[in-house]
Amino acid sequence: MSAVNTLEPRPVTVLGATGSIGQSTLDVLARHPQDYQVFALTGFSRLELLQRQCLQHRPRYAVVPDEAAASALREALRAAGLATEVLSGEQGLCAVASHPDCAIVMAAIVGAAGLTSTLAAVEAGKRVLLANKEALVMSGALFMQAVERSGAELLPIDSEHNAIFQCMPGDYARGLQRVGVRRVLLTASGGPFRDWSLEQIARATPEQACRHPNWSMGRKISVDSASMMNKGLELIEACWLFDAPPARVEVVVHPQSVIHSLVDYIDGSVLAQLGNPDMRTPIAHALAWPRRIDSGVEPLDLFAIARLEFEAPDLQRFPCLALARQAAEAGGTVPALLNAANEVAVEAFLDGRSGFADIPRLIAAVLEQLPRDDAGSLEQVLEADRQARLAAQAWLQQYAH
Ligand code: NDP
Ligand code: MG
Repeated sequence: MSAVNTLEPRPVTVLGATGSIGQSTLDVLARHPQDYQVFALTGFSRLELLQRQCLQHRPRYAVVPDEAAASALREALRAAGLATEVLSGEQGLCAVASHPDCAIVMAAIVGAAGLTSTLAAVEAGKRVLLANKEALVMSGALFMQAVERSGAELLPIDSEHNAIFQCMPGDYARGLQRVGVRRVLLTASGGPFRDWSLEQIARATPEQACRHPNWSMGRKISVDSASMMNKGLELIEACWLFDAPPARVEVVVHPQSVIHSLVDYIDGSVLAQLGNPDMRTPIAHALAWPRRIDSGVEPLDLFAIARLEFEAPDLQRFPCLALARQAAEAGGTVPALLNAANEVAVEAFLDGRSGFADIPRLIAAVLEQLPRDDAGSLEQVLEADRQARLAAQAWLQQYAH
């Protein structure tokens, strides 16, 4: 077979282009100009970076949060001789996510802010590269129904879920039991506080929480990794992606982050995906699937790594993981409540308005206070998100340290 690509490059929208995943995606895309072309880029606060990205990748569209930012970027791009059309707001995000000329959408906006545009890409039947795990956690059933209805190709970017996808048989959608899967083993680095005492963790600063031992990531997911809420959100994410009950997903702490997750089969075989901790591997995998393309990631040097370790997670020191498992089991709007409470708690911690130990306290209080509802419509999910944010703000005013 010829190695030369005779097809047109596939147009790619990068939602959240200015973030950590967005920048890694642009790095991979730039290595394959014959296969991919940048269709749209979106940014929120780092608009100078977005402008530089536009100059380099010459997208057809760029999206910014509001009209004032749009006219500034429009002027700057026009002065540089670019024909990029600049849109704004949620509408702009949904327009580029669902545009008929776009084939692939990288969903890499952080948090609930990415839900509507990610869903728009799914509903338009795109190949959706899902980094924005919060969208799936909030709206799981609706999200997966939309994938089914539209025929969207949903490919996980989260390194663990991408690893699980790679270790699953091609027909896993028939049901895990039918294809002989016993368990999914979700690996966790344990984060920067893996060997800290409860007292030390309680006094942790935002700088310490954002200093991840293996991965360089945005600030919100870095704090989630430090509290292990990231693994909790990933547990819920795995349940939806692979139609697995929570009891079949086990968390394994693996400090080296070389094994990105494993699938345990009933015959005793355990398949794992390994690689250097660099998000360009899952990004390249999901872009090109079922083909393989160069990602720029260094080959894995097992002799340099020498040792792989495993331990059980400590739910005493990392109560967020237990809260997330409870939410996964409760279902309905409970994961949306958990996610919203966590987003408020993390923001307050990063702003210095509360302590690290307040994160699980606040989430537990919100889950206790608000009732479970069905998550049968987007309105119900968004209402749960709104209620949880209100309850979380009220808790912060009353109790935060
Ligand atoms: P970053 O904080 O680095 O980037 C977030 C992106 O979202 C930026 O482009 C940001 O714009 C944009 N954004 C933020 N708020 C809004 C908003 N209200 N409306 C529109 N856009 C907004 O995060 P990461 O790249 O680290 O993470 C992105 C997603 O990927 C998260 O859901 C995370 O959980 C997931 N993920 C990340 C991994 C990683 O290694 N980083 C690994 C696995 C999953 P701007 O920067 O211009 O403000
Ligand atoms: Mg992950």
